[in-house]
Amino acid sequence: MSLLVVGSIALDTVKTPFGEGREVLGGSATYFSVAASYFADRVCLVGVVGGDFPPKHIQLFLQHNIDIEGLHKEDEGLTFRWKGEYNYDLNEAVTLDTHLNVFSSFNPSLPEAYRECQYVFLANIDPELQHQVLDQVKQPRLTACDTMNYWIQGKPQALKKTLERVDILIINDGETRQLAEEANIVRAAKKILSWGPRILIVKRGEYGALMFSANNIFSAPGFPLEYIFDPTGAGDSFAGGFMGYLANVDTIDETNIRRAIIFGSTMASFCVEDFSLNRLSNLTYPEIEKRYKAFKALTHFEDI
Ligand code: AMP
Repeated sequence: MSLLVVGSIALDTVKTPFGEGREVLGGSATYFSVAASYFADRVCLVGVVGGDFPPKHIQLFLQHNIDIEGLHKEDEGLTFRWKGEYNYDLNEAVTLDTHLNVFSSFNPSLPEAYRECQYVFLANIDPELQHQVLDQVKQPRLTACDTMNYWIQGKPQALKKTLERVDILIINDGETRQLAEEANIVRAAKKILSWGPRILIVKRGEYGALMFSANNIFSAPGFPLEYIFDPTGAGDSFAGGFMGYLANVDTIDETNIRRAIIFGSTMASFCVEDFSLNRLSNLTYPEIEKRYKAFKALTHFEDI
């Protein structure tokens, strides 16, 4: 099944205690689409870049069979840039600089063929733009979105409207508390579910992810990696693996949602093993499956 993603495509400058990447490929839609490309039949990318966007990055999308008909290039403008830093606690990025550039006037317009996409992911963008995308897709089977503190604070009403219209919300634990104005994660999740989404996935950095639905809670651990170089994009890679797997199996039930969470966690664990998309873009499916099975072994225990 076809999977649509709308989000940022960026040139990132990232510093971690283990090294630095300057003007490297990044952006939420970039990480998502590459992670999803290992699973979904077709990934349709909607985003905007400037005239300075290196052609080698376009090649990377094409190598992963990502459909770029919806990738707008504004020759006169500059690509979105994000500068961030991590300390030894790799769970939290400190944003040093954001230059929206061509992203500031971004108006997601979907090519006709994209409107039929069955699976839709609205990455972290202005909730009003998220509405515009939902208005253009015809009859999606599954919609999911991400957001961040900036929109939770700045556009709470528009964000609530997005939540009324999506099936799944994927955010981190801090955002969950902030959105619900509730410190306890279980109570916060219940509150958010009452606003619309059927499922809430709470990303907890190196500690894994929690899934909440009306009747279930599922917990996935973070994979215990010996080397983590750069956590940038882990959340979007998680979402890409998660939605990509569901688009691939095209049956949305509890079993597949749990598998999708582990595939999401698998893609996030590869993402952080190198800067930018260096690891994520060079995977083979057997490697992905091997780590999926390692997740299973990690969490398996017998009943008493
Ligand atoms: P993640 O680490 O998964 O939360 O996402 C990291 C990516 O988000 C980076 O590659 C950035 O380019 C991108 N990013 C950072 N700030 C923003 C923003 N305000 N809007 C859209 N994308 C952003």
